[in-house]
Amino acid sequence: ILKVEHLDKAYQNQSVLHDINFSINKGEVITLLGPSGSGKSTLIRTLNGLENYQAGKIFFEGQEVVPTEKNWQKLRQKIGMVFQSYDLFPNLTVLDNILLGPTKVQKRNKEELLPEVVDLLKRVDLEEYQNVYPRQLSGGQKQRTAIVRALMLHPEFMLFDEVTASLDPEMVRGVLDIIKNLANQNDMTMIIVTHEMNFAKQIADRVLFLQDGSILEDTNGQDFFDHPQTDRAQKFLKSMD
Ligand code: ATP
Ligand code: MG
Repeated sequence: ILKVEHLDKAYQNQSVLHDINFSINKGEVITLLGPSGSGKSTLIRTLNGLENYQAGKIFFEGQEVVPTEKNWQKLRQKIGMVFQSYDLFPNLTVLDNILLGPTKVQKRNKEELLPEVVDLLKRVDLEEYQNVYPRQLSGGQKQRTAIVRALMLHPEFMLFDEVTASLDPEMVRGVLDIIKNLANQNDMTMIIVTHEMNFAKQIADRVLFLQDGSILEDTNGQDFFDHPQTDRAQKFLKSMD
């Protein structure tokens, strides 16, 4: 579904991603691991058109992405993304935050969308919170709202960047369970950046291990956690214990 070839990315003069090559098949779940500053967020953002890149190619569903803002806008209807900082609109209720994309971008109407929203909110235990504003929600509830909002656009592909990093420990599991359910369900393709190693171990079909902007390992999930090939990945896993 997605293929990246010889991708290079720099901020100003500082090179951050070097010769990134990988592909992900439909329905596959990749966890993207690596130390702080290794370029995980930059790579995820690049795959959603939020960062430009200096060299290389990105293919989505077999077609090369010509990196114009217009093309990325179209693609973002198929590629959903959830960040660490749930960027909900503070002046909109949960329901209106969720409906904004489908009504504005996809021009669908509210009545037609409601049953689906309610169903999704039930699945994430938020059905009681439809008319509440973000400030009245806990971090975990906000993050679950952000996930529902992304899912309403029916993405074929989801990118998650440390979605539990700013949550209290007791909120983390609820959010991770939702992502796990998504992974098990139908054909959802996902790239997940996380520091939760147990979760990564359970969910990853494959692991990409990034270090200093390069992919050091691209390994089947089980193998990565059982016996990482590089010293650096071994060290990284030890440090996460
Ligand atoms: P973390 O685990 O801490 O989130 P990361 O792997 O996501 O780290 P990135 O945020 O992708 O790392 O950062 C990779 C490198 O790019 C770092 O050296 C960082 O300082 C640099 N960088 C990130 N964003 C910018 C920016 N907007 N402008 C300039 N440099 C940046
Ligand atoms: Mg990051």
